[in-house]
Amino acid sequence: MAPIKKECDYLVLGGGSGGLASARRASGMYGAKAIAVEVKRLGGTCVNVGCVPKKITWNAAAIADQIKDASSYGFSVKHTAEFDWKTFSNKRAQFVKKLNGIYEKNLEKDKVEYLHGLATFLDPHTVKVTLDDNTEVDIKAKKILVAVGGHPNLPNTPGAELGITSDGFFELEKQPKKVAVVGAGYIAVEMAGMLHALGTETHLFIRHDKFLRTFDPMIQEKVVAEYERVGVHIHKNSSQSKVEDIGNGNKRLHYKDSNGEGTMDIDCLLWAIGRSPELEKLNLEITGVKQNDKGHIITDKYQNTNVPHIYSLGDACDRGFELTPVAIAAGRRLSERLFGGIEDAHLTYENIPSVVFSHPTVGSIGLTEPEAQKQYGAENLKVYKSTFNDLYYSMMEQEEKSPTSYKLICAGKEEKVVGIHILGRGSDEVMQGFGVAVKMGATKKDFDRCVAIHPTAGEELVTMT
Ligand code: FAD
Ligand code: NDP
Repeated sequence: MAPIKKECDYLVLGGGSGGLASARRASGMYGAKAIAVEVKRLGGTCVNVGCVPKKITWNAAAIADQIKDASSYGFSVKHTAEFDWKTFSNKRAQFVKKLNGIYEKNLEKDKVEYLHGLATFLDPHTVKVTLDDNTEVDIKAKKILVAVGGHPNLPNTPGAELGITSDGFFELEKQPKKVAVVGAGYIAVEMAGMLHALGTETHLFIRHDKFLRTFDPMIQEKVVAEYERVGVHIHKNSSQSKVEDIGNGNKRLHYKDSNGEGTMDIDCLLWAIGRSPELEKLNLEITGVKQNDKGHIITDKYQNTNVPHIYSLGDACDRGFELTPVAIAAGRRLSERLFGGIEDAHLTYENIPSVVFSHPTVGSIGLTEPEAQKQYGAENLKVYKSTFNDLYYSMMEQEEKSPTSYKLICAGKEEKVVGIHILGRGSDEVMQGFGVAVKMGATKKDFDRCVAIHPTAGEELVTMT
C-alpha cells in the first residue's frame, strides 16, 4: 500500500515532556499545524518510567520510614509493617495509564494531530511514521523537532543483560529480597534509597569512594555517610567482571571492591550508570544533523541544530540537563520563538534547581563550592554552613537521627548567592522557593531580610551567620 502523505508546519518527534509541551504551545497557543509522533506511551520517560512512578515509589518508601519513626512519637506500630509490592505497583501502573489518557486528551484539546508509531527520517524535510498496523505515513514538515529522549545504558560486562535498568524497575512484579545497584548518579542513589527503606537488602556498587560526585562535596559526604548509617551496603572503588544466571531468577555478580574480589548472589541486579540519546532508529544521519561524541544532538541555547529547520531539546540534545522541567521549558520557549514571534525566546541554562529523591532528600542550585572557587576565587567567597537537628528528630534517640545540612555560597562584596546545597527532610519542597530567589539574583542580605517561618528546617537558610 502506498504511504499516506501529510504536510504540517511543525512535526514533533517524541511524545515526552519536551515534545508534548512544544507541540501544544505551537498549535494550542499559536495555531500552527502540528503533528506529534510517539512510538511507546504518551508522556515519555517522566510519566511512564521516570519522575512520576519514581516519586510514587519514593512516597511509599517515605511512609515506610515514618512507620519506623512512629514509635518515637508514642504510636505502637510494628516496625515490620507488611508491604504488598504487587498491589502497590499495580495501583501505580493504573495511575500512569490514567495520565497517558489525560495527555492524549490534552493533545486533542490543543488540536495537535497525534500519530502512534515509529518515526524515521527519509530526507531532511520528510519523516516516515510506521503506525502500529504497519501503515506508513510520510510527513513533509516545514520545521521538525527531535525530542526523542534517551534510554538507560548497559555496561559491556559479560552477562549484563541479566540485570535490569530503571525501565525494568517499574516492571518488577515482586519486591527484590537482595539487590545490587550499580551506579553513582541520581537513579542509583534514589533507587537504592527506596529499596532499602522498603526492606530490601541493598548493595550499592560505586566506582569511587563517593556517589553524586557532580554535587557539592558536602552533599556527597553527608549522603554517603547517611546511607552507611542506615545500613545500605556501599561497595566502594568497585567494578563488575561478570554476571551469571544461577537459576530461579537469581544471579551471581562477580565484583571487585575496596575489600578485594568477591561474588554475590542476588535476586535483582539494577544498572543505573547513565543514559544515552534514543537516536538509533531515527536515521538522523540523512539530515546532516551533528551529534557530539556521546551521541547527543548538538544545539545552541535556542535549541537550533546545525540544520536550519531542525531543532532538538531535552535528553536527546547536548545542553547537559536531563530533567523534565528543562525539556518542557525549552519546548515552550522554542514554540514561542518559532510560532509566537518572540524572537529571543529561549531557556536560560543557568541556575536550574534540582532535587535528588534520596533518603533524606537533596536540593541544589547554582555552583558547587569548588565551581564557585574556580569562577570567583576562594578569597571572594563567603560560605555559610549549618548542620542541625530537624525538630522532627527531637523525639528520637541520637542514633536514629538523620542529618540536616545546609550550605549557602555567596560571592563578591555584595554576597550574591551563587549556590545553595541542602539535604534533610523536606529539602525537595524547600528548594523550589529558594530557586526563585537565586534566579532573581538575591544576596545574603535579601535572605536575612526575609522573616523566618518557625519552626521549619527551611528557616535556617534565612538565619545563617
Ligand atoms: P522523553 O520524556 O524520554 O520522551 C521522548 C519520547 O520519544 C519517548 O516517549 C520515546 O518513546 C519517543 N521516541 C523515541 N524515539 C522515537 C521515534 N523514533 N519515533 C517516535 N517516538 C520516539 N527528571 C526530573 O525532572 N525529576 C525527576 O524526579 C526525574 N526522575 C527520573 C527518574 C528516572 C528513573 C528517569 C529515567 C528519569 C528521571 N528524570 C527526572 C528525567 C526525565 O524523565 C527526563 O529528563 C525527561 O523525561 C526528558 O524529556 P524528553 O522530552 O527529552 O524525553
Ligand atoms: P547519571 O549521569 O546521573 O549518573 C550515572 C553515574 O553512574 C555516573 O555519573 C558515574 O558516576 C556512574 N557510572 C557510569 N558508568 C559506570 C559504570 N560503568 N559502572 C559504575 N558506575 C558507572 O545517570 P543516571 O542514570 O543516574 O540518571 C540519568 C539522568 O536522569 C540524571 O543525570 C538526571 O539528569 C536524570 N534524573 C533526574 C532525577 C531527578 O531529578 N530527581 C532522578 C533520576 C534521573 P561516577 O563517575 O561517580 O562513577
